[in-house]
Amino acid sequence: MNAPSVYDTIIIGGGPGGSTAGAFLAKAGQRVLVLEREIFPRFHIGESLLPFGNDVLKETGVWPKVEAAGFQPKYGAEFFVSNGSRWQRFWFARGLVPGYGQTFQVERARFDHILLDHASACGCEVRQGCAAKEVTRTDGGWRVTLDDGEVRGRWLIDASGRDTFIGRALGLPKTPLNIPKRVAVYAHFTGIYRNPGDAEGHITIVRLRDGWFWLIPLAGGKTSVGMVRMLDDLKQFGGSVEEWFAKTIAESSELTRRMKDAQQVGEFYKTSDYSYRYAQLAADRAILIGDAGGFIDPIFSSGVHIATKSGQWASDLILRADTQKRSLTIGEQRHYTREMHRFMDIYRDMILMYYDNRAFEVFMHPRNRFRMVQTVNSILAGNMRRSFDMWWRVKLFRLICALHRRVPIVPRLDYTET
Ligand SMILES: Cc1cc2nc3c(=O)[nH]c(=O)nc-3n(C[C@H](O)[C@H](O)[C@H](O)COP(=O)(O)OP(=O)(O)OC[C@H]3O[C@@H](n4cnc5c(N)ncnc54)[C@H](O)[C@@H]3O)c2cc1C
Repeated sequence: MNAPSVYDTIIIGGGPGGSTAGAFLAKAGQRVLVLEREIFPRFHIGESLLPFGNDVLKETGVWPKVEAAGFQPKYGAEFFVSNGSRWQRFWFARGLVPGYGQTFQVERARFDHILLDHASACGCEVRQGCAAKEVTRTDGGWRVTLDDGEVRGRWLIDASGRDTFIGRALGLPKTPLNIPKRVAVYAHFTGIYRNPGDAEGHITIVRLRDGWFWLIPLAGGKTSVGMVRMLDDLKQFGGSVEEWFAKTIAESSELTRRMKDAQQVGEFYKTSDYSYRYAQLAADRAILIGDAGGFIDPIFSSGVHIATKSGQWASDLILRADTQKRSLTIGEQRHYTREMHRFMDIYRDMILMYYDNRAFEVFMHPRNRFRMVQTVNSILAGNMRRSFDMWWRVKLFRLICALHRRVPIVPRLDYTET
């Protein structure tokens, strides 16, 4: 039997997280293997990017390829009540930090392919249609078993997304998130209403009393539409997810207006109970990035941003330790885990507020005292940097929501259809 190939780093998964980590490591001179189970292009949900996520793509060098790909430009987000009685539109360019006014809505099949090809152009060996089957610790690294043999690496990055390959293989503990079980059902459509002008690429969120829809306009006339509701409600409904989806649209005048000429393109998908998080995201020679480490909820379109950012952090950590010929220290492992959890916690707190109908009422009646609207624009653009400017305004927003729960400060939202 041939001796297994040996790499500096093996990355399991060639989504945005894995491709980004691979690009950074290969550019720094490492011998990197990216294992991707599927053959790209392949469908993936998660099409709405955030402007603050552009920076990492610029640093790997893939940004000009993304810009040249003809994706739908995205300048902001808008929120509607399901009966259309109230709506708010936000523009990233009006955020607290200048320079983050635009990003893209991307068909992930093409976007992920561009990123994976870029990782290869940076020097990664990419094996598509090649799944990792097992991982075993070795002296000073890892052995990964494939269908047709095995490979070895000093470092291992788990970028396997919601498959959470290492988490499952090693039986790692998860931390409770205290988020109720929800389900997302989604498909691509043509013939959906589009805003005129620069708002054409805005993500539209239509808020139901007990859930929400996203409408993400993609290039070429397609729109990604998804519904998020409680898993228990689906069980109670009893019919198919397609019927549930259609019934919910028919019950909302805003969705009916936008989707009256919609034609479904391709399959219908369902993802249930999607929020989870591992308690520990790094070991001495392994790091979990992106969805392989945890995922909270798609409302703020943060998934790709977190996946690429964690890919960058992981590659920085590996490069630093590798040049010093050592493993990750306990301190580094804890620090990485803390930073990732903090990143997710910021989103978790905002998500809990979003699902709270009283807090959503405050959100839908923004008043620009203390530059609160700029703060919301910045958060929607993905600004998760620690800054006093943001911190105290978010606290103030929370305080206003808490007060509104006791004494109405803004008008109540009415979801009833006439
Ligand atoms: C309903 C829903 C809506 C979403 N909407 C958005 C959105 O609008 N914007 C946004 O930014 N995010 C969104 N997300 C989140 C986003 O999809 C993810 O956060 C993002 O794709 C994570 O990237 P990743 O690289 O970590 O994992 P992935 O993109 O999932 O990539 C993982 C890759 O690993 C491969 N793989 C898995 N197992 C193996 C194995 N054993 N061996 C080899 N390869 C393997 C898979 O084939 C896959 O290609 C949404 C998620 C859901 C569930």
